[in-house]
Amino acid sequence: MVIATTIEEVRAQVRAWKQERLTVGLVPTMGYLHEGHASLVDKAVSMCDRVVASDFVNPTQFGPNEDLEAYPRDFDRDCALLEEHGCAMVFHPEVSEMYAEDAATYVEILSDMPKQLCGKTRPIHFRGVCTVVSKLFNIVTPDKAFFGQKDAQQLAIIRRMVRDMSYGIEIVGCPIVREEDGLAKSSRNTYLSPEERQAALILSKSIFLGQKMVEEGETDANKIVAAMTANIQTEPLARIDYVSAVDGVTMMPVDQIQGTVLVAMAVYIGKTRLIDNFIVEKGA
Ligand code: AMP
Repeated sequence: MVIATTIEEVRAQVRAWKQERLTVGLVPTMGYLHEGHASLVDKAVSMCDRVVASDFVNPTQFGPNEDLEAYPRDFDRDCALLEEHGCAMVFHPEVSEMYAEDAATYVEILSDMPKQLCGKTRPIHFRGVCTVVSKLFNIVTPDKAFFGQKDAQQLAIIRRMVRDMSYGIEIVGCPIVREEDGLAKSSRNTYLSPEERQAALILSKSIFLGQKMVEEGETDANKIVAAMTANIQTEPLARIDYVSAVDGVTMMPVDQIQGTVLVAMAVYIGKTRLIDNFIVEKGA
């Protein structure tokens, strides 16, 4: 596996692959990789000749009081995982390689879409995500890029950005990978104390509760959100940021379970903010 730290190294390698008419897949990550990330690499390997993963904790997507400094990092372990899963190149730049000191150009969706859900408490987050992903698209020029359904709003926003900016890149969404007990895998799970780790199960439990209500025929989105909210409130260590049912494409709130609906939540367990969600596809 090639370890690239400069944009130029990535460009040279991708150019060589493209001269051989090989297709290229991109898996953007912030490192501290787990099986959720590995599932994206596996999917990319199955669909592309060469897979590039980026491993970069992107400062522009963190707010002033967020966990940029504390975000867990273990590049050697990441490389071992990526290599084992057939990744051909990892791009691990310094912040200075990605952002000039006076960088002032951003990619931002100006509709209400990035202001919903996580955007309410993280107002600059999706501007940072769109900017870094856009830069990665320009650096790697992949044929396809792979994102997890775990970050459902991010996936919807990237799809919109790709459409609006005419990136000729296919976006592939991949299902949420969970721990055996249900907790969605996340690099941030490492922040949890043993007691908090147990309490964090309330997220997936309420996701499964919502899914069951849908399966049993409930079509009132507000009833589902209310039941999930009440369920989360039974856990003393949990503090709800949001639980919402939104249109799966626009991210705007819905009252009925009809068409593609995303039911998503962000919940603090102690100081750790965790997210989880499920998607419903229901015909008219
Ligand atoms: P991150 O490193 O947290 O920025 O995540 C990088 C990519 O991995 C994003 O597209 C995430 O949605 C995806 N991802 C993270 N956790 C999971 C998971 N548990 N299941 C599936 N995809 C995931």
